Amino acid sequence: MVVELISVGTELLLGNIVNTNAAYLSERCADLGLSCFYQSVVGDNEERLTDVIKTALKRSDILILSGGLGPTADDLTKEVAAKVMGRELIMHEPSRKLIEEFFNKKGSKPTENNWKQAMMPKDAIVVDNENGTAPGVIIEAEGKKVILLPGPPNELIPMFEKNIVPYLSGEKSGIIYSRTVKICGVGESKAETMVKDLIDGQTNPTIAPYAKNCEVHLRVTAKAADEKEAKALLTPVLRELTNRFGANIYSMDKDTTLEKAVVDLLLDKNLTVSTAESCTGGMLAARLINVPGISNVYKSGYITYSNKAKRKILGVKKPLLENKGAVSKETAEAMAKGAAAISKSDVAVAVTGIAGPDGGTDEKPVGLVYIACNVRGKITVKKYN
Ligand code: ATP
Repeated sequence: MVVELISVGTELLLGNIVNTNAAYLSERCADLGLSCFYQSVVGDNEERLTDVIKTALKRSDILILSGGLGPTADDLTKEVAAKVMGRELIMHEPSRKLIEEFFNKKGSKPTENNWKQAMMPKDAIVVDNENGTAPGVIIEAEGKKVILLPGPPNELIPMFEKNIVPYLSGEKSGIIYSRTVKICGVGESKAETMVKDLIDGQTNPTIAPYAKNCEVHLRVTAKAADEKEAKALLTPVLRELTNRFGANIYSMDKDTTLEKAVVDLLLDKNLTVSTAESCTGGMLAARLINVPGISNVYKSGYITYSNKAKRKILGVKKPLLENKGAVSKETAEAMAKGAAAISKSDVAVAVTGIAGPDGGTDEKPVGLVYIACNVRGKITVKKYN
């Protein structure tokens, strides 16, 4: 079954709101084993919405529209969908009652345009909205299904989970199951080259690389009859990726961030950590401190922005700063050494660099960063640009 998403709303077209409904619906449709080949965004305009629905009906079995079910005149989705499907709108008594009750509970009175929300396409399935006044609508005709959902995510998501998932479950032909291999320390193009032969020869499972902020994620997706079969298809591919990327893979778990993987490792190895930062001004500490469980391993964070702070707090020697500069391998090393000594932590990470926009020279350009890692006195420093 092929599903197509249509997000309705001029606000979406103008970029005033982010289309989170489409992201949510695409992911859930994939979970349900429904293929989604097209998505569109269209404004609150009768002619263009008509066009989009007609086009979608030609190439997809199930259309899911979100937004434009509200009471105002520019909320057109139901009216246009009903017209395209050749259905007249009639008063739906249970919806009329629900709207009445909704306003009674709030202690206010519905306005005339609220009744528009109780007008339903003839023979449509009306779906309760427990969090708002616009019911969802399902119109079935000639083997097609057109599903209309309210725009606000706090209405759409519960309605989709409670009513639409069971409705669509009968339509699925197997499941789509993915794992995300999260890689750091390898650039996107290199990562892609390393798996090019696998991507070129792939059918099921498929591998899709995504460049993230300083990371590369490889999403490996299998289509199968059930989860057990999908996992069996994924296992050899995940093993091959582990062979190729080794320790650069920090997780295959959807919810594990790089910092969480670091904290898990520290907990596992029973190591405490401190941070000493110059150009990042505490951002490294902030990322680590966001991870639940960090209090068991994190000791201290030092923001030593000025040379004086590097000297006074971390004990970096004045001649070293004068001769090598604050942004140097030696200073990074001395910061990591000082941080571990003062905080008595097993591990200390130090960052010093030129963040810009000013302050760069030919020799030390903006973006130059030294990162030192001190693990029980064994210090490694890396230079990055
Ligand atoms: P209402 O009954 O509240 O009028 P509606 O079905 O008419 O709902 P819209 O008027 O299109 O929905 O949108 C209402 C609000 O829902 C938007 O202002 C926005 O905050 C949110 N919204 C709509 N569409 C989306 C979307 N695709 N992604 C995320 N949020 C959305």
